[in-house]
Amino acid sequence: MAHSKALLVLENFIGGKFVPCSSYIDSYNPSTGDVYCRVPDSGKEEVEAAVKSAKAAFPIWSSKSPLERSQILNKLADLIERDLEAFAQAESKDQGKTITFARTVDIPRAAYNFRFFASSILHHTTECTEMATMGCMHYTSRAPVGVAGLISPWNLPLYLLTWKIAPAIACGNTVVAKPSEMTSVTAWMMCKLLEKAGVPHGVVNIVFGTGTKAGEALICHPDVPLISFTGSTLTAQRITEKSAPHCKRLSLELGGKNPAIIFDDADLTQCIPTTLRSSFANQGEICLCTSRIFVQRGIYSEFLKRFVAEAKKWKVGNPSDPTVDVGALISKEHLEKVRSYVKKAQAEGARVLCGEGVDSLALPTGNQKGYFMLPTVIAEVKDESCCMQEEIFGPVTCVVAFDTEEEVIERANSVKYGLAATVWSSNVGRVHRVAQRLQAGLVWTNCWLVRDLNLPFGGMKASGIGREGAKDSYEFFTEVKTITIKH
Ligand code: NAD
Repeated sequence: MAHSKALLVLENFIGGKFVPCSSYIDSYNPSTGDVYCRVPDSGKEEVEAAVKSAKAAFPIWSSKSPLERSQILNKLADLIERDLEAFAQAESKDQGKTITFARTVDIPRAAYNFRFFASSILHHTTECTEMATMGCMHYTSRAPVGVAGLISPWNLPLYLLTWKIAPAIACGNTVVAKPSEMTSVTAWMMCKLLEKAGVPHGVVNIVFGTGTKAGEALICHPDVPLISFTGSTLTAQRITEKSAPHCKRLSLELGGKNPAIIFDDADLTQCIPTTLRSSFANQGEICLCTSRIFVQRGIYSEFLKRFVAEAKKWKVGNPSDPTVDVGALISKEHLEKVRSYVKKAQAEGARVLCGEGVDSLALPTGNQKGYFMLPTVIAEVKDESCCMQEEIFGPVTCVVAFDTEEEVIERANSVKYGLAATVWSSNVGRVHRVAQRLQAGLVWTNCWLVRDLNLPFGGMKASGIGREGAKDSYEFFTEVKTITIKH
């Protein structure tokens, strides 16, 4: 395919240098449907060079003190903040998300990831026990593992990539990272800041390309002892199988089918706007998004009426317009997949109350070929329906009624996933009871997406293995040793 010179061409970042690749993949602007960027189609050769460079940088980087590493991470955070607007514009164009979301969520959090681990790395302590009768004391020491392989998805590109790079390098590892082939631009932009921040050459290497080619070369590389992956459950299964012969350490952050449980004593003035956000923020393309809303029967009709009326107010359109609430979905294929769920629900007899197939979507002239979809609310869906069981990962949410606490806990838990859940009630006792029994790694009550990075993040069941957070990431990215001393 012939390309005009105006296309943005990315290069791999290996050993502190930008390196061209022999072949490239087209990357689309989701809000126009045009190819606007070319991403290296890296394979074994490029991954080999990146791992070699990361291995060579490890002795020096791992021997720096936590304070020295912390200062470098803070400088990198400063530089991302300095360039926040350019990063936000690029993320919005590359991913389809609204400029407002990129400005207020993605890029500030990417900078904060570095700042947070720059601080937390200074405060860990190790354990010590005494066995007086044996004349012994024991203590633990922790050391970085080596070259970390980091693989991230397309929904929160720089946010999730830095959530892995920051703890990995703060702990003294060197990294080879592979962002999603659909959203590589902000990772490439960040590479331009590394030298200025003082990150030595080879500490952070970024190899761009597809999962099956570049991703698999990375997970199968014998010199990459740990893999931190965020993405779909299906890909995680493949990564687990492929890396098994090497017995690698794996952290897997996967999909969700997150319930919101709304009891009849909930404060609907708080609950409705928050549940709209939890359903439709970032086009519903957040692993933590709500996609099953269980409403207690007494308030079901009122909730539905108010929720649908508010959902219709969400403005869909050009992501660079700051008044727009919903941008474009990541790709044509993904848009078709999300739409197909709505059709399946209708075929099963569910009611689509607003959005896809019900309301019309007027788009600006330049966005007619973009991958847009209206926020869609579906009611009267059976719990067994694929819309209530599978991760849709788009602006589609299902609302169903329930009667009792016991019943709703069982129904909320009746999916293969276990990432996040939200509970709305003003009864403190009930909130605790329900939160304890929900099968989810994160439970928010009377709020959503409020995070303290100190505490564990991750999912149960098919939503993942392992947790990330101050202590959890420290444990994952270091190897522990128990030393016994007899006096
Ligand atoms: P995906 O699994 O298709 O891809 C994720 C990454 O893995 C990409 O970089 C991709 O190139 C790479 N990859 C694909 N196949 C690979 C293979 N065989 N070997 C190695 N790497 C491979 O996921 P996606 O579509 O990019 O992202 C959406 C998914 O991510 C959703 O399921 C969502 O819930 C999940 N997600 C989870 C979290 C979390 O923290 N739990 C956060 C965000 C997204």
